Order: sequence, then structure tokens, then C-alpha cells
Amino acid sequence: MAKIRVLIAKPGLDGHDRGALVIAQGLRDHGMEVVYTGLRQSPAQIAKAAIQEDVDVVGLSSLSGAHRTLFPKVVEELKSLNAGDIPVIGGGVIPSEDISFLEEQGVKKIFTSGSSIEELANYIVTLVGPMEGEVTKKISHIGIAVKSIEQSLPFYTKILGLELEGIEEIDSESVKVAFLKIGDSRFELLEATTDNSPIHKFIVKRGEGIHHIALDVEDIEARMRSLSKNGIEFINPEPKTGAHRSQIAFMHPKSTQGVLFELCEEAGGE
Ligand code: ZN
Repeated sequence: MAKIRVLIAKPGLDGHDRGALVIAQGLRDHGMEVVYTGLRQSPAQIAKAAIQEDVDVVGLSSLSGAHRTLFPKVVEELKSLNAGDIPVIGGGVIPSEDISFLEEQGVKKIFTSGSSIEELANYIVTLVGPMEGEVTKKISHIGIAVKSIEQSLPFYTKILGLELEGIEEIDSESVKVAFLKIGDSRFELLEATTDNSPIHKFIVKRGEGIHHIALDVEDIEARMRSLSKNGIEFINPEPKTGAHRSQIAFMHPKSTQGVLFELCEEAGGE
């Protein structure tokens, strides 16, 4: 999967890049590719490097006090090279009264010395948005809790005219699943096989009905990492095996406005 690419640059004349190097390494530790321009770069050089290196974001660091002129200049140079869509963020020794000025000039966000690498990395992840391979393209299936598959099936097959692909028992979840194909997706009718089944508990609490929506993903572990960085919590922190040997993980409904979403990576090579 593509990694987020960041250009770290030091515009202006100050000769200290310890802080910039620490940030560059910190972002690498968060799985990003970081290009560092070195000291004393002009805004034009920085903008050019950003385009040549095809980065997703430019991070400027300044200790010299010249940020008020140099940071907006980088934004301008990018615009003049038709690369105004590359976001610019800044950090260093920036007095708080300059922050809103810089943001008005098109700098997306200023991080002061009190911010952590975590905050910075999380912000970049949200700023850049989903990378290739992280765009959710289809619903894998909709899970529907039923008391009895046998009794529910005729509605789906005879009345809706859907094709029953098969029925599978998943011991780890204490559940029996009927798969009904609808276009590229499926309905999955979920029947509890024991009283400990999450489906049994769901029906006791809320009655029969829609239990979860599963999103098809290509690389479940990578998606879990990036969703976690966006503050999404998971019910199972590690993927587990679901129907058809797929790998699945449930997001916690408190992270998703009450909807139980499942990530589902289908088993390949069949
Ligand atoms: Zn499911």
C-alpha cells in the first residue's frame, strides 16, 4: 500500500535542524516516507522539491522568526506551480499570536513545541485522507440477526427471489450463517447456535433485524491501523477468521454513530 509522503523543509537562514530531524524520524516511525530538504532552502526550492518528490504534505520548520514571510511564500510558490493542493503545515518557534495569521495565509495548521509527534502524525493522516488501497469500494455483506434461518429464508428466496449460496456454521462466533447473493454483495442471515452467541444476546436485547454492515477491504491490518489512527476503536483489536475463511474485525459502534461496521478481507485464491 502507498505510504504517506512528507517533505520536511527548513526555509530561511537558521542553522539548526535537530528539531526537524527528530520530526522526520518520528514520522518515519509512524510509517511515513519522509524527505528532508536540508538547511537554508528558499520557498521556491521547497515548492519544487515537493512536486519532484510527489509528496502529500509539506512540513515547514522555522526557528529563525522569519516564518511570517517564509511560510506564506511556500504556499504561494506551490500555487504558482499549480500544486496548491499540496497542504502546508508548520512548526518550530512560533508565537501564538502568529498562528491565526499563518492559517489565514493558507498554512493548514501550526504545531507548537508543546505538540507531540503522535498529534502531528494523526493530523497528517486525517489531512491526507484515504490513500490508494484505503478507499472503501463496496459492501461485502449486511448481517441480519434472525431467530431461525429456516423460517426466515423463504422471504429472501421465494419473495425477494435471491439465490441461497450456502449455509455455514462458524464455531468461533457460535453462529450459523446463510449467504444470499444480491449483486456484488450478500445478505447474511445470522442464527445463534448457543445462548452465548453474540447474535442470541443481540436478539434478546433488540429483537431480530440488521446486526451489522460489512465493508470489503483489501488489506485488513493496514486498514485497522489507519482507522485506529483516526480514532476508531475496534471490538477485536486483531483480525479473526469469519465465514469463507475471510479475515474480519468489528469497529466499536461508539466510534461509528451506533452502526456496527465490520471490515472483511475475503480469502483469496479460491
Ligand atoms: Zn459479517
